[in-house]
Amino acid sequence: MTTQNVPQKVSLLERIQSASGGREILDPATGEVVGRAPEATEKDLDAAVARAKAAQPGWAARSDDDRAGLLNAAAEAIEAHAEELAVLLSREQGKPLNGPNARFEVGACVAWLRATASFPMDPEVIVDDESGRAELHHRPLGVIGAIGPWNWPMMISIWQIAPSLRMGNTVVIKPSGYTPLSVLGLVDVLNTVLDADVLIAVPGRGDIGDRLTRHPDIAKIMFTGSTPTGKKIIAAASETVKRLTMELGGNDAGIVLDDADPAAIAEDLFWGAFINTGQTCAAMKRLYVPDALYDQVCQALVEVAQQMPMGVGLEEANVLGPVQNRAQWEIVDRLVTAAKESGARILLGGDPDPQVVAGRGGHFYPTTLVADIDPDNPLVVEEQFGPVLPIIRYTDLDQAITDANSLEVGLGSSVWSSDLGRARAVAAQLEAGTTWINKHGAVDPRVPFGGAKESGFGLEFGTHGLREVSQPHVISW
Ligand code: NDP
Repeated sequence: MTTQNVPQKVSLLERIQSASGGREILDPATGEVVGRAPEATEKDLDAAVARAKAAQPGWAARSDDDRAGLLNAAAEAIEAHAEELAVLLSREQGKPLNGPNARFEVGACVAWLRATASFPMDPEVIVDDESGRAELHHRPLGVIGAIGPWNWPMMISIWQIAPSLRMGNTVVIKPSGYTPLSVLGLVDVLNTVLDADVLIAVPGRGDIGDRLTRHPDIAKIMFTGSTPTGKKIIAAASETVKRLTMELGGNDAGIVLDDADPAAIAEDLFWGAFINTGQTCAAMKRLYVPDALYDQVCQALVEVAQQMPMGVGLEEANVLGPVQNRAQWEIVDRLVTAAKESGARILLGGDPDPQVVAGRGGHFYPTTLVADIDPDNPLVVEEQFGPVLPIIRYTDLDQAITDANSLEVGLGSSVWSSDLGRARAVAAQLEAGTTWINKHGAVDPRVPFGGAKESGFGLEFGTHGLREVSQPHVISW
């Protein structure tokens, strides 16, 4: 469990690395031990929920300004520990310090806390006329259960924690069993400024997540992870009619239009797909390119990709890292192998080191670009969640839009064009929670974010996100 105050004499990293007991957590780049994570029992979970429940009325009784002030203080506390947190994140998750990776993620935690503290949240007057008045207020829900993944463990935790606390809820958070130390470190830092027991981390695996989901004293689950686990949570939550925000898997399509400038868009296309070494829910995972530009886009992407060093996260030059865990590496390898066997053309990569293939060394998979691949190839229709991008050739834009919409998921999508009007017309036809134009995956704390279809439901960020962690309450006379 977490402590309320980080001892200042021992650095966060030293303390986490010297913890005894629990489960060894290995660096995915080197196989070295990063630290040990405690494993909560069901009793620990029940005790944590009871403490969070007892703390909630006092936290809700604070003024909104007070709570917003504490979110800002939490942002300052993270800034004071930023480099330590980034190093811990890099070692545990694998992502490099530089590029849109570990330092960027810690910076995003600060930005999201500050932004979440700043959104106006006044009661809304819905009706005010001769017939009477109706006001919509937003009350706290109670204790929020937060369950997170291993790809952006700190940032996604903040996405769950910050709005929940701002609205007067307390939070019990279960980090991914792959990346618990990052979240424990983050929670420790937040707890240097927060009231006791308003935020409690319960490290454990899926069984602890399942118990949290069924717990009668948890009012809502905020979940980010895979669609299959999301479906289990939806079923389990029905027992107690829990509120849910579900941010589930995606398989985002990008569509290049025939008026785009390949050289101008290549770097943004690359990072749209390869941010966090491709392990991002709203990363571009399949790219549709018209015949007329196909060779140019492929060539421009290869040139950009060749300039992006991959390696151990603590080495400052690297901007791409390993796949976080072996199970995910196997998914990536299976899908690339299937693509190769189907006759698709490998433009770059696709040839993992035999040592890694044999299960030795870090879980690196080379940056891989795959061309001339069928629209229904498994690498296109399944989420690869790794450093691989299939580039699908199209001749008919309507067919590309149909293919982009053909899957059961719809988190993000993007359109790439020099003509904003055309891009907007295509964007309007895409089935997704967000469609970006000439960028991909650019989340913003002010802009609502959520999925369509099996990518989930409920909005995060901005005032929409605050409303989702509150109980609407109409007062009418
Ligand atoms: P999961 O959905 O399995 O895990 C996400 C979180 O849910 C983890 O904390 C996990 O715990 C927990 N969990 C597992 N089972 C349950 C349960 N029955 N009830 C409550 N919580 C549970 O994702 P994985 O990490 O296994 O990744 C699998 C796939 O999901 C990836 O291949 C990728 O496609 C996708 N993914 C999508 C993400 C996104 O941001 N949308 C993020 C990560 C993955 P624990 O792992 O500790 O057992």
